[in-house]
Amino acid sequence: MTDSRQRVVVIGSGFGGLFATQALRRADVEVTMIAKTSHHLFQPLLYQVATGILSQGEIAPPTREILARQENARVILGEVTAIDLEAHTVTSQVLRRETVTPYDSLIVAAGAGQSYFGNDQFARYAPGMKSIDDALELRGRIFGAFEMAELAETEEEIQQLLTFVVVGAGPTGVEMAGQIAELAHRTLRKDFRRINTRDARVILLDAATQVLPPFGAKLGEVAHKSLERRGVEVLLGAMVTDVDERGLEVRFKDGTDGLRQQRIDAITKVWAAGVAASPLGKTLGEQTGAPLDRAGRIAVNPDLTLPGHPEVFVVGDMIALDNLPGVAQVAIQGGKYAAKEIRNRVKGKPSQKPFRYFDKGSMATISRFSAVALIGKLKLSGILAWFLWLVIHLAYLTGFKNRFTALVHWAVSFVTRGRQERAFTEQQIFGRQAVERLDGGASSLVSRPGEWDAVRARLEANAAEEARLTDERRRGVPISSESVDP
Ligand SMILES: Cc1cc2nc3c(=O)[nH]c(=O)nc-3n(C[C@H](O)[C@H](O)[C@H](O)COP(=O)(O)OP(=O)(O)OC[C@H]3O[C@@H](n4cnc5c(N)ncnc54)[C@H](O)[C@@H]3O)c2cc1C
Repeated sequence: MTDSRQRVVVIGSGFGGLFATQALRRADVEVTMIAKTSHHLFQPLLYQVATGILSQGEIAPPTREILARQENARVILGEVTAIDLEAHTVTSQVLRRETVTPYDSLIVAAGAGQSYFGNDQFARYAPGMKSIDDALELRGRIFGAFEMAELAETEEEIQQLLTFVVVGAGPTGVEMAGQIAELAHRTLRKDFRRINTRDARVILLDAATQVLPPFGAKLGEVAHKSLERRGVEVLLGAMVTDVDERGLEVRFKDGTDGLRQQRIDAITKVWAAGVAASPLGKTLGEQTGAPLDRAGRIAVNPDLTLPGHPEVFVVGDMIALDNLPGVAQVAIQGGKYAAKEIRNRVKGKPSQKPFRYFDKGSMATISRFSAVALIGKLKLSGILAWFLWLVIHLAYLTGFKNRFTALVHWAVSFVTRGRQERAFTEQQIFGRQAVERLDGGASSLVSRPGEWDAVRARLEANAAEEARLTDERRRGVPISSESVDP
């Protein structure tokens, strides 16, 4: 059966992609959403998965389920590897299956990844916080550090294991540091026999001179003091110059011109600094001549389209337009704007005015019952800001089921000492290194996503060999040692 409706392809199931697709619900179009994960990820709560408050399912519902009732939308899994603006096609891959999807209109909402400012090798020892994989790896590393400290023989080893460093004092870094401090000082304090978890050091460091720069000096100072009251050491003007398994090297700018180098011994490091837009921006830039900024974000027209390509919209974290911040509301409003423009075109209506972002404010939690919020000129802090944070995050969590269980888990974590989601597996902690070993010791897959193909091919070959051997065993064929790949 052929469908004569206009074909809209949406890349990404994050805030931009999902809200754009939902806004096309009643349009006379056929929507195909292509994303490399099968879920819609609520990134602002990743830190709660990493610190055992929420489960991954609560912040990452399946996109397919969210869109199940939207009959004009289809979801396909795949990593987009090419966009051909002339041929109007998007090529995506999952394992080694390639799919080419033609489009009449395209919305690109592939978001951003972690940036290590040219030092991708840091990722091995200091995971970022961009995906469910990252959050679960960090959960394993954080809770695992307490477990290993309980077994450690020397004071020095215990101290290394009980030192947690969070790099980046933006909202994610502040939230992570606050939660790790709460784990050490409150949640875990009665669970161990040999170590005193309250001896843990939680260090938040940043090259900037204040905590939460986008919130302004006053709220930054409130957050800084509140963190210190909760036992977090805040080190500002501190640049990370190297990271290894056992710690990191930091260079401090001391007021005047003096620079001081210091080593911090810490097994657990979290990288919450720096973002790099999806590499798809580069592909689009090369085909249109649109420039990219330092974070790889592409310059778009005021109506979010690409120069010379009114049929292609780019939204969310990937765009450089009027200094818009990389926040969820920019992506949501951009996705809805692009969808409305497509609806208008289908109906023959005139175009909208240029995209204008409506800033609804920003907030960051510091710990339970403590947050800061900036809404227009209104500056809030303490418990009032925290309740506002709670209500807003609950409202934006997708799906009734998720809201309900998140609320129960928040009650458990904030009212009692409990944390429901402390389980972690060895694979979560060591998965990254295992994959690197499999790849023949390549330094970092983060910088070379294409390398995953080689790893996958090797895994598939191993699986095929295993299946063959199992089959032979079942059929009673004698197995020679040479037939097993060591
Ligand atoms: C830890 C953390 C905390 C945050 N906290 C806040 C906060 O408190 N408030 C706030 O407003 N903002 C916050 N943000 C920022 C906010 O989450 C982003 O601005 C928002 O998610 C951007 O939406 P997006 O649609 O552009 O990208 P994303 O939501 O990142 O979605 C990108 C989508 O594209 C998919 N994708 C990427 N590359 C490909 C590819 N090649 N092929 C196919 N699919 C692809 C991804 O799988 C994903 O589905 C936070 C971000 C992080 C990481």
